[in-house]
Amino acid sequence: MLLDLPLSRCELDRAAHLRGDLAALAEMWQRAKIIELIDDQFRIKDESLDYVSPETEGDRFFLGLDKAGAPYFVAYRKGFVESTSDEFQSLRTIGKKLADLEIGAAVHALALAQWHESHQRCAKCGGATVIGMAGAIRKCSACSAEHHPRTDPAVIVLVKDESDRILLGRQKVWPEKRFSTFAGFVEPGESFESTVLREVAEECGGQVISMKYLGSQPWPFPASIMIAYEAVISNPGTTKADGEEIEEIIWLDRELLKAKVASQELLLPPAISVARAMINSWCGPSARELVAKESWRDVGR
Ligand SMILES: [Zn+2]
Repeated sequence: MLLDLPLSRCELDRAAHLRGDLAALAEMWQRAKIIELIDDQFRIKDESLDYVSPETEGDRFFLGLDKAGAPYFVAYRKGFVESTSDEFQSLRTIGKKLADLEIGAAVHALALAQWHESHQRCAKCGGATVIGMAGAIRKCSACSAEHHPRTDPAVIVLVKDESDRILLGRQKVWPEKRFSTFAGFVEPGESFESTVLREVAEECGGQVISMKYLGSQPWPFPASIMIAYEAVISNPGTTKADGEEIEEIIWLDRELLKAKVASQELLLPPAISVARAMINSWCGPSARELVAKESWRDVGR
């Protein structure tokens, strides 16, 4: 059984065949459900996306069609939104509250907008690039090269011993008492499985003897996809924090985890993260007891 991951929702038909059809795009825009995104803040009303009029400013990216054939777009622009505004919220804040279709659309919109924002110049010749195919590509206005959105894969690993305890680590840069699972980007030339072996060895000295795939979740902060595994290691007695990225590690059985969360000695990652889904799934039905203050930092775990 794969994990049920909060941001892994794709209910819209992306309808790629319509991306190059300018007449269809213009017609759809007039009747579309248009999400407004300013920087990384979505316009929200009553814990749902608040769709806006076709007059709304911004770059237009086509997201797809719902089951009834209604088109969805995002109108994206750079700007500044007061953090105290209730009308605008980040995906992190609102993500768990949205309906599945809206989560999928918002994840797509945010990932796309951030890719466009950081690919204004051609990687081949340095020329200015422009939006093409309703946001699915950028095209260089000097050399005509086409650039496609990129997603950076990272593995995230729930490390276990043969007695079914889990190992969590603490990064120096995280808020105090925050622990989570281990993770790292896939490097060029690596398979996901090789990355699991390398990251676990690097961060805690664990020697992986078996691993199991648990699922994947897009993590558009700004451009990752997290590929989740659990991995059993052979040497729980000799694991140690690498002292560079990870400053502390802790082995936990279920009772110890619940006690430390209840006493706030240990803070878990947020509910929309893969890490939290893996920890909750391991914990079983009693995971509902793991309610404590959440702590955020801009990392995918
Ligand atoms: Zn170019």
